[in-house]
Amino acid sequence: MFLNGLIKLETMRTYLIMCCLFVCSWSFADYAIVIHGGAGTITRKNITPEKEKEIKSALEEAVKLGAQLLSDGKTAIEVVEKVVMLMEDSPLFNAGKGAVFNHEGKQEMDACIMDGKDLSVGAVAGVAHLKNPIVGARLVKDSTRHVMLSGKRAEGFCISKGAEYADSSYFFVKSRWDYLQKVLEREKNQSGQNDGGAAYMDEGTLKYGTVGCVVVDKYGNLAAATSTGGLTNKKYGRIGDSPIVGAGTYASNKSCAISCTGTGEFFIRGTIARDIAALMEYKNLSLEEAGKETLQKLTEMKGDGGFIGVDGKGNVIMMFNTEGMYRGYTTHEMEKPVVKVYGD
Ligand code: ASP
Repeated sequence: MFLNGLIKLETMRTYLIMCCLFVCSWSFADYAIVIHGGAGTITRKNITPEKEKEIKSALEEAVKLGAQLLSDGKTAIEVVEKVVMLMEDSPLFNAGKGAVFNHEGKQEMDACIMDGKDLSVGAVAGVAHLKNPIVGARLVKDSTRHVMLSGKRAEGFCISKGAEYADSSYFFVKSRWDYLQKVLEREKNQSGQNDGGAAYMDEGTLKYGTVGCVVVDKYGNLAAATSTGGLTNKKYGRIGDSPIVGAGTYASNKSCAISCTGTGEFFIRGTIARDIAALMEYKNLSLEEAGKETLQKLTEMKGDGGFIGVDGKGNVIMMFNTEGMYRGYTTHEMEKPVVKVYGD
């Protein structure tokens, strides 16, 4: 009798454990990762086949790194940091090495990283000597009570916490420098267009090149990271949308993780990243629906650019209203990443 009772209890316990295991594996989408390398006038006419190949292979390498880390069980926040670091190290993108030049011929970078699990977030703005600005953003998130630090004192803090220093010459890429000279020359010839506004916007070969990464990890957590040199010829200590929570970067386990790229002023005014999340949270829209509605709003504002996003189920979006956007993604179900540059 007593033995019978024990056996029944043991069977029930086994059932319970099995149920728990089933619920856990059912409620989390294994993993998904999406990246962007900037949006803009990216057309076949503007890019040589060699360049296209180079960019696609850099995008693929970044997605693969993220997928490997995710499948190894790394957390969302660790993965977005590592992937953005890799892209910052590439001179092909406007972030870290290869950042664009401001009006004074200097490179000033912005970056932000956000953990959807607890809404913890860190950002650096206008930094010039952090080899990897995203590492600085992570240090702000993890080692201060603050959300955003700027300029020299941000650099000092991050370096004191172990971020790597880099001299200005490390970031220099000649094509970026030449592009600034072109823009300055044109600005001289266009009186009244000198406020750091849209003087450069219609440049045929313009590619913004900001980088971003969003992921959902095996544990169901979301994270987002964005890093940029901003806009060529930016002035007066201008800060863009990338380091601003809810504008260029946002992540919440309640909705999605988003990273934006484009003319930052529009993304700040339209709180684009947070709008997508809010539409999901308050209006119960899907990621796809929320992305479409927000892109329409951006377009109506005459803003240009795009964004990437992922939700807790592993749905992904890559949306833009420019000719192209460097982008790529993969999920645990896919054999190899998809990477694209043009509008098709
Ligand atoms: N959004 C960035 C900024 O305005 C630039 C970009 O994405 O290309 O600083």
